[in-house]
Amino acid sequence: MITEITKAQLLAFRLGQLKNEGKATTAQISMAKRNNVEMAINIAREARQVLGGMGITGEYSIMRHMMNLESVLTYEGTHDIHLLITGADITGFQAFK
Ligand SMILES: Cc1cc2nc3c(=O)[nH]c(=O)nc-3n(C[C@H](O)[C@H](O)[C@H](O)COP(=O)(O)OP(=O)(O)OC[C@H]3O[C@@H](n4cnc5c(N)ncnc54)[C@H](O)[C@@H]3O)c2cc1C
Repeated sequence: MITEITKAQLLAFRLGQLKNEGKATTAQISMAKRNNVEMAINIAREARQVLGGMGITGEYSIMRHMMNLESVLTYEGTHDIHLLITGADITGFQAFK
């Protein structure tokens, strides 16, 4: 978990640097949003599972965090749409239908 979180933080940090320099592209932001949200929700799911049955109770906040992340998969550009943006960026072909 800590390795994946650190990798995602490095991605966000580098993107912040590029943004400050006026060099961040839409495709880079798209890739970072998609990657980091997916990483976060996977970790939240794993953390929920580590807690077993207690993980779905209100006593632990992980389920609530996980559900918040479910909504982040959709807003500010869905997971699928960001993938299409990345695909268009690296291939030059638009796959939007
Ligand atoms: C918590 C929350 C807060 C929000 N806040 C705001 C806000 O403040 N302002 C605002 O304007 N909107 C807001 N939204 C709306 C959000 O931007 C849209 O829900 C989002 O863009 C997806 O659009 P949709 O719901 O119409 O789904 P659809 O466009 O119908 O998509 C449904 C599913 O199909 C996939 N999909 C769609 N088109 C393609 C395609 N061409 N190829 C492959 N897959 C595709 C999508 O990824 C998604 O999984 C919010 C949504 C949520 C959940």
